[in-house]
Amino acid sequence: MLRQITTCDVPAVQTIEHRSRKAGRTLEYRLQLCGRHRWLARSWPGRREAHEPVGRCGTLLDHRDYDRVVESHANEWLVSLTTQHPSNHHGDVAETLRAAHIFLAKAREYIGPPGYRADITDGIVVALDHAARIAESIADGTAGEAARAQLLAALSVAETIAAAARGA
Ligand SMILES: [Zn+2]
Repeated sequence: MLRQITTCDVPAVQTIEHRSRKAGRTLEYRLQLCGRHRWLARSWPGRREAHEPVGRCGTLLDHRDYDRVVESHANEWLVSLTTQHPSNHHGDVAETLRAAHIFLAKAREYIGPPGYRADITDGIVVALDHAARIAESIADGTAGEAARAQLLAALSVAETIAAAARGA
């Protein structure tokens, strides 16, 4: 799964790599950031390496399993933007995303979340509705388990729009 946690097009000068503690030490994720966005790495444990400018800031190669990637989206941007987290919904992802969509649509109507560009926030509302719809289809059996990959892709799109909305 490829994620893009900034919309910055500056080359990366730091790479954070996290490997599994199990035998084989497989790569769990690799995150690359530019100098200005290095602070975003604070919440990402792993081995840090500074290097010559390469690739693009914000690119995150995420090899973790479904549950952990959903948890990561919840922790990294969903809860701060919408106040919703699966831990407040008995782990129910569909319920969480629908609540997040409703919260942001209402917040947008009145004031919009502080620090977020209102026009781009409209895009997050649409992307969250789409993600919630996929999660609901998984939950009610309309979509098969394969739709989990589609949900992760939808969450990645929402994540990148959210980064654009807060100017990251
Ligand atoms: Zn950057």
